[in-house]
Amino acid sequence: MENNRTYHIIGAGIAGLFAAKLIKEKHPLSTVLIYEAAEKIGGRCGSFFDSEHNCMYDNATHVILNCNRQTKKLINSLLFKHTLCFWDFKKKTFISKLCCIKEIILAIFNTAKPNFSALLYVIRHLLHPYQLKAYFSTGDLSNLLCDPLLIYANDIKYGYVWQGVEINQNRITKLRFNKETITIDVGDMVISAIDSYHYNKIVGGYDFDYNAITNIFYRTSMALTFPQNKKMFGLKNALSQWIFSTPNYTAVTISNSPEKIDSRSIWQEICCIRNYNSAFEPYTRIQYFPYATIRQDKKNNAKRPTDAQTAYNNLLICGDWTMKNRPCCIETAIQSALRLLKYL
Ligand SMILES: Cc1cc2nc3c(=O)[nH]c(=O)nc-3n(C[C@H](O)[C@H](O)[C@H](O)COP(=O)(O)OP(=O)(O)OC[C@H]3O[C@@H](n4cnc5c(N)ncnc54)[C@H](O)[C@@H]3O)c2cc1C
Repeated sequence: MENNRTYHIIGAGIAGLFAAKLIKEKHPLSTVLIYEAAEKIGGRCGSFFDSEHNCMYDNATHVILNCNRQTKKLINSLLFKHTLCFWDFKKKTFISKLCCIKEIILAIFNTAKPNFSALLYVIRHLLHPYQLKAYFSTGDLSNLLCDPLLIYANDIKYGYVWQGVEINQNRITKLRFNKETITIDVGDMVISAIDSYHYNKIVGGYDFDYNAITNIFYRTSMALTFPQNKKMFGLKNALSQWIFSTPNYTAVTISNSPEKIDSRSIWQEICCIRNYNSAFEPYTRIQYFPYATIRQDKKNNAKRPTDAQTAYNNLLICGDWTMKNRPCCIETAIQSALRLLKYL
């Protein structure tokens, strides 16, 4: 049914931006306002320009799998040309994927011990040879995924940090931001698309444990070549877990990582795989994300919500953490926005 409500979306990560698209497609006459704490959109899957390295980086290199159907619809499917493959650092050779199930699980769940239903979900989607094709981001996530969704917002307010709510009879009446307080009219909707860490601080009820991810960028003047000319591969028996080679840089990702990673040792691993001695480590940028994803084990998964509805009549939630049993990834964030549809 057509409506001319105002939808207040908080958070301009992929879940919030995709929610804006769904609302505008369903209700073209509605008003969609987005409030974002940062000065840019994209959240965990945006890109940024590093002026020191003179290079576009993604907020961590992202792998998108061929089975991520909704994400694939947003980006060019021709990009999915890499196959998941693994290099054994000790044996100095590529090895069968079947020997690397542990590594695949760690990459998808950012924990070595996900709960069983989550595992089944991924196995169902992944265990087809065709599905093992993947794309990895090359400084283009904002451009490919996020920026095209901006057209669906009537306005986006940057630097608006959501800090609290006022409630009357199970309804949010006011949203308190650092810059102003917004009154929510009767009939209008609020959609939280922020991460669980901040949601728990503001609204409460979701006190998760988190796992970190470290991403290291080595800025090089040309693409580094690796065995069999692979551009993307996982590693076994090494400190590095995934290596990605692009024309401007080589990136390394380490899931569930400790805070301190020695970029020099990782660089030496890269040199060793290439069988090439390089005395100098190139310009390096290390990104450590302490709250990269909720720890997707049995205990934390049990705490995840089962639906987009909340205790407040006019508040819905979306975001990767809101979908029980699903890995915290771009695809899940988009799916969580799709789950809003029946309430919009
Ligand atoms: C290092 C790293 C590597 C990853 N690798 C992969 C990968 O390879 N493949 C994959 O699919 N996924 C990967 N992910 C996960 C993926 O990035 C996330 O699942 C996805 O981006 C989540 O989107 P979201 O919209 O739910 O949340 P977010 O991207 O976190 O968006 C939330 C938005 O809300 C804003 N916000 C927060 N608090 C407030 C507030 N108080 N007021 C206003 N705004 C607020 C934030 O600034 C942010 O823009 C990775 C994540 C990290 C951190």
